[in-house]
This record gives sequence, C-alpha cells and structure tokens, in this order.
Amino acid sequence: MANVLVTGGAGYIGSHACKALAAAGFTPVTFDNLITGWRDAVKFGPFIQGDLLNRAEIDAVFARHTPVAVMHFAALSQVGESMKHPGRYWRNNVQGSLNLIEAAASAECGNFVFSSTCATYGDQDNVVLDEDSDQYPINAYGSSKRAIEDILRDFGAACGMKSVIFRYFNVAGADPDGDVGEFHKPETHLIPLMLDAIDGKRDALTIFGTDYDTPDGTCIRDYVHVCDLVDAHVLGLRWLLDGKPSRVFNLGTGSGFSVREVIDHSRDVTNRAVPIIEGKRRPGDCTKLVSGSTRAVAELGWAPSRSTLPQMISDAWRWHQTGHYNT
Ligand code: UDP
Repeated sequence: MANVLVTGGAGYIGSHACKALAAAGFTPVTFDNLITGWRDAVKFGPFIQGDLLNRAEIDAVFARHTPVAVMHFAALSQVGESMKHPGRYWRNNVQGSLNLIEAAASAECGNFVFSSTCATYGDQDNVVLDEDSDQYPINAYGSSKRAIEDILRDFGAACGMKSVIFRYFNVAGADPDGDVGEFHKPETHLIPLMLDAIDGKRDALTIFGTDYDTPDGTCIRDYVHVCDLVDAHVLGLRWLLDGKPSRVFNLGTGSGFSVREVIDHSRDVTNRAVPIIEGKRRPGDCTKLVSGSTRAVAELGWAPSRSTLPQMISDAWRWHQTGHYNT
C-alpha cells in the first residue's frame, strides 16, 4: 500500500483524514508534534512524533517512508489567538510549511494536498467567494495560510511540485463510528463550546458580537462535515496521482448559518436549552464566510452526504457524550 505523509494526523481533521485514507487503501503516516493533537487519535497507520520546525526530522520521515504524497494539516488554527500572537502563526505555520515543502522537493515527492482556509478571503461584502476571488485576510491565521499557498505556487513553477489546495469553510461533526472526533484544549470552536454549555461543562456560550450587519446581528458561516471534507482530500490525492494539474478548491456547502441559527439547531438536536451570553465581537472575525463555488463537486466529483447542520450537530453531540482521548 502506498504511504501518504499526514502532518497533523493526530489532530481533529488529520485524524479523520487518516481514517479515510486507510479506507481508500493508503497507509497514512502521521507526523505530529502533539502540541494540539492526541496520540490516541492516531489509529490507522504509523506515528512519528516530530516538529515541522526541525528539518532533519522531516527529512528522516521522507527517507524512511518514501510517501507518494503529503497531506499537510499541521497548523495553529485559532483566529483569536492569531490576532494576539501573530509571530507564532508566521513561525509555526509558514516556516514549518516551508521546511516541509523543501523537504518534499528534495525527496522528489511532488504531490502535495494542503489544508488552507476561507479566512484567506477576509471580509468581502456581497462578493461570491469562489476560488478566483481576491484574498484579503484580516487575521494572522488567514495571512499565514495565504503565504503557504504562495510558497506552493512558487515551488510548482520552480520544480514542478503539484498541489491541491483546499480552502475550508467551517468544519464540524465527527466520525459517526466514534473512532475519532473533535477535541481541542482549550476549545475555541462554536459547536463544541455550545455542546459543553448544553451539558453543563461550562456555564454558557458567549456569542461573539450581536451587532454585525446580518439579519440577526451574528456572524454567518458555512459549515461542512469533517467526513465529507476528508473525502474531498482523498479525491484530491487521486487527482494528483492521476497526473492532473495543481488546483484550488473551496470546501463548503454554499449555505450560511448565523451563530444564533446554529444555537437554535443545537437546541432542537439535543432537546436541551443553550445558556448564552451576548458578548463583544472577537477581533479578526469576518462578518460572513460562505462558499460560492461548486468546483469541487463539478471537477473532483465530491458528493457531501453528511453536511446538514442537524447531522453535523448530532454527530458532534454523540462524540461529545461518548468519545474521548486519554489526555
Ligand atoms: N463564536 C462565538 N462564540 C464562541 C466561539 C465562536 O460566537 O465561543 C462564533 C465566531 O465569532 C464565529 C463563529 O462562531 O462567528 C465560528 O467560530 P469558530 O471559532 O468556530 O470558527 P472560525 O470561523 O473562527 O474558523
């Protein structure tokens, strides 16, 4: 079976990707520093603990496992933190990715699937966000990801490295079998925080801003199920292995939901009240991020099947109640 190097394979999305890769007949080789990931989440292939800031550690993985491709998930990914500590984001995300890309180029591993973000688009009122939209990130997380996209384009031109860049919208849900799920410490994402508030693990969910220019005053996001998202990655990998050219794909459903709408759906799915506090805006948040593209469906044959809000919340709720990692 062909090896695929999965950086961040011990994290939320990376661990789901490893499961999907194994199901598709690949061996996912996880490389993770375990700063935000969990050893317990690595269940579908070998694990190497290492850091992308250490080039020698990356070279050793390429030499030992000779992967046919890289799937690069490892990153710091919190908008709020990136506004307070931009240096961390530029060092960890950009320098770490540059090391990885250079190591892949020297090992002649020329297929690269990259986890980018809709945060690279920034706040663009009344603009349909498709892959050709301008990128004006308004937080250091988005800037760091845009910079990595540029590095990949430059290496494509210089040495023929091919990349599939996925710009994710908001990823939610969990593996329906309960093998892996979402677990961040500290948690910063809307749906898991809301589920914590629902079952009393925290006092309340704070809504970050109720004065946005949206119908109910709260931010709008496009939520996509993590299992659908990683299915797209397997299709992207096959796209590259089939010899197709570098390409960018948005991964979102095209439907936007406000924070208040997510709260309403969570109440319906769990049959429990959601204690809320109306708080201030979080610096770096865009008003509305909704994908306006069907390129992944048309060109990759992506067919999301679990990305309705009730399904995502229900899968997240099941994991929340029954799944855990030893921490
Ligand atoms: N959000 C919120 N309260 C929280 C966490 C998030 O109101 O405790 C809002 C946040 O402002 C954004 C949306 O929920 O509008 C999604 O935020 P999340 O951090 O889950 O993902 P992001 O969009 O930052 O990638």
